[in-house]
Amino acid sequence: MTMSDKKKLVMVGNGMAGVRAIEEILKITSDMFDITIFGAEKYPNYNRIMLSPVLAGETTVEDIILNDEQWYADNDITLYTEKRIEKIQRAYKKVIADDGTEAEYDKLIIATGSNPFIIPIPGHDKEGVMAFRDIDDCDAMIEAAKKYKKAAVIGGGLLGLEAAKGLLNLGMETTVIHDQSTLMNMQLDSTAGEMLRSDLEAQGMVFKTSTLTEEILGENRVTGLQFKDGTSLECDLLIMAVGIRPNMALAKDCRLLCNRGIVINDYMQTVTDPSIYAVGECVEHRGAVYGLVAPLFEQAKTLAHMITGQGLKSYEGSVLSTKLKISGVDVFSAGDFMGASGADVIELMDQVGGVYKKLIIEDDEIKGVVMFGDTADGPTFFQWMQDGKDISDLRSTLLFSASGLGDSGHSGIDLAAEMTDATIVCGCNGVSKKDIVDAIVNDGLTTRKEITANTKAAGSCGGCEGLVYQLLTSTLGTAFVESEHDPICACTELNHEQVKEQIKARKLTTVRDVMHTLDWECEGCQVCRPAINYYIGMIWPEDSEDDRSSRIANERMHANIQKDGTYSVIPRIYGGETTPDDLIRIATVAKKYAVPTVKITGGQRIDLLGIKKEDLTSIWKDLDMPSGYAYGKALRTVKTCVGSEWCRFGTQNSTGLGIHLEKELERVWFPAKVKLAVSGCPRNCAESTIKDVGIIGVEGGWEISTGGNGGVHVVATEMLCLVETAEEVEEIVKAYLQHYRETGRHNERCAPWQKRVGMESIKIAVVDDIDNRKALVARLKVYMDTLDSDPWQDRIDDEARTGSKEFNEYRTIEIKEVNS
Ligand SMILES: Cc1cc2nc3c(=O)[nH]c(=O)nc-3n(C[C@H](O)[C@H](O)[C@H](O)COP(=O)(O)OP(=O)(O)OC[C@H]3O[C@@H](n4cnc5c(N)ncnc54)[C@H](O)[C@@H]3O)c2cc1C
Ligand code: SF4
Repeated sequence: MTMSDKKKLVMVGNGMAGVRAIEEILKITSDMFDITIFGAEKYPNYNRIMLSPVLAGETTVEDIILNDEQWYADNDITLYTEKRIEKIQRAYKKVIADDGTEAEYDKLIIATGSNPFIIPIPGHDKEGVMAFRDIDDCDAMIEAAKKYKKAAVIGGGLLGLEAAKGLLNLGMETTVIHDQSTLMNMQLDSTAGEMLRSDLEAQGMVFKTSTLTEEILGENRVTGLQFKDGTSLECDLLIMAVGIRPNMALAKDCRLLCNRGIVINDYMQTVTDPSIYAVGECVEHRGAVYGLVAPLFEQAKTLAHMITGQGLKSYEGSVLSTKLKISGVDVFSAGDFMGASGADVIELMDQVGGVYKKLIIEDDEIKGVVMFGDTADGPTFFQWMQDGKDISDLRSTLLFSASGLGDSGHSGIDLAAEMTDATIVCGCNGVSKKDIVDAIVNDGLTTRKEITANTKAAGSCGGCEGLVYQLLTSTLGTAFVESEHDPICACTELNHEQVKEQIKARKLTTVRDVMHTLDWECEGCQVCRPAINYYIGMIWPEDSEDDRSSRIANERMHANIQKDGTYSVIPRIYGGETTPDDLIRIATVAKKYAVPTVKITGGQRIDLLGIKKEDLTSIWKDLDMPSGYAYGKALRTVKTCVGSEWCRFGTQNSTGLGIHLEKELERVWFPAKVKLAVSGCPRNCAESTIKDVGIIGVEGGWEISTGGNGGVHVVATEMLCLVETAEEVEEIVKAYLQHYRETGRHNERCAPWQKRVGMESIKIAVVDDIDNRKALVARLKVYMDTLDSDPWQDRIDDEARTGSKEFNEYRTIEIKEVNS
């Protein structure tokens, strides 16, 4: 098609929704339109969502540009920046800018966004009173923070809190004034609102809730606020974050029907003029206006289909979900989070871990979600809510999903694997699980950055970054090698290796010290805190302090929480060999506490399932057996066969060696769980070749192989070495595991670690270089000498001494009726 055959498409507004619509059009056709865009701002299209991290100093303006000038040039788009359209002449199909520039159109898109609302209280026009909407506002706040010290933010919603966090980071004393008692009351109930408040107070934010402002004080510049309750506050910068109003002045002026916004039909055409389309925050669709990008991007798709004549893909409105972008504070909310009369509420509260989850259920469907502290399942719940999924069978298990249990044994892989193809992983950009998996498989992507570049997932608020990693891991299995350069999580710029180096170089021995010294932006999250806690214990075994609050729920409880909220208790049964006395004790406990299920596990132990939280300590006391650490990133089991003691094929005493190794290593913490197996001959009855460390008796010695895994992606072990004696096995296994402890990343199983660092280098470190091997074993011994007590026994002793039942911290599942 030649230039002259092309239709003229003009767009007013160079923001997120409008440019997304252009991108969608270009995906369908690049030669139907001659495109011209007018933008009032001086920048090309940028990610407005990321202004909060820019203000908080976590990223830069350059990093949030979505489409640079080159993109417009490459797509033959004429871009006018800093030109505000002042008139639309529908009769002449023409727009006119403030400097007189004119452009004729065949089709026009209005994408003018919205204006921040400024409450018209006396003094609202004083210097130092401003909104938070664009890069210029961001720059103005950064400049103000250099001169002034006291800031106030009116509005305790999402935007107000993000602005306040940014000002705090800029060194200003910041007070948030909110007219309601609950922060983010449009998205959170009072419980989540309180948890949010206390987390933000811990970061230094001050709140004045249930407070109305009467007047803004000061001569020319704001100096303070007078409140209706008679109190006042000094401040020299005031941010109003009290909502937005669709920007429809142009549309009104040219007599397009406007109500709360520019009124459009299901195909994004204005109801007044079919050649004029509108998209984004400026529109009203079926009575609703939207202020989050996910629905606007859906609108953009529909607009592109309609304007290019690709058939009628109608827009039918959106259900919203929200995520707060403050480092270290995880909040997710979607749908009707309070619940109508007659709806059920399912709640989970872990006060010590700072986790709260609430689901509103009506007619066996999820209608609303509020999550605080652990939001990993948010996208899944949101998808089920949109699909109207019948959750009656999952009801009692919903809140204890893979991620909720912390260590499900697969580092969260289950969660990604369980999501349906249609589940939207990146809410901001509308990217589904299938889009991401297809990109990984078809385009050979292996890093989060490549996925963002290819699909846009995790490119906006960053809330889905963890899920994207899980999809990489679950799709690629051990082929996934985390980039050396990726930071541990969004709370820091540092990667695992850098954090370990700094802990060593600066002798950091507490989680708090690490976060403080290494400039953590926040209080840490469920990814970085357990990792730091592991690293300080591994590097400074004698001097570090274990931080219980940085452990996942199961490790804090020393038991595995099950999907119905009860616990499972697994005592140590060394090498799978038990005694009549132990069996009688287990049976007596099972009868006394009416344990509903007694199960022999794949690791040759006995699992008591269905234990009530309040019975845990008494059961451990009655059992009088060591903890099996079935809940921790520790040695789980050493599976053994009967070996030469009983088996006619046996060449070595596999049971004896297995028991000895289990007793030696039983309390050691690792980056992830570790399983061993010892078989008495190459028939391999203990399945040694799919364990982290597998030992097989052969004529005249033992074969040691490592890095196996029997999980979702089965991996066979690789041969490490052949040795003659059980003593040599012990030394090599200890050296291998200490090498893994030192160079593995938290949450990384042996199999991917071995793949990452390379079998050859491991062989050199633990087999060939004898001095290094001995040094590794010696360091493990220093650490093991600090492990003198059993966690169950500690808990029994603590309870006897203090009389405190600390386990009350974890309130298990509650189901109740709303408003009844
Ligand atoms: C600080 C901040 C944080 C946010 N965080 C989130 C979040 O976490 N999640 C989320 O989903 N959403 C968030 N949002 C909201 C999100 O940014 C908006 O929903 C989205 O940007 C709206 O897109 P839009 O294209 O409709 O409007 P905009 O992106 O505002 O674009 C409209 C553009 O039109 C220009 N314009 C207006 N009138 C004219 C004219 N007459 N001539 C020429 N140009 C004109 C404006 O200058 C502007 O550049 C946040 C917003 C802010 C300000
Ligand atoms: S692995 Fe060998 S020694 Fe062990 S039980 Fe099987 S056949 Fe017997």
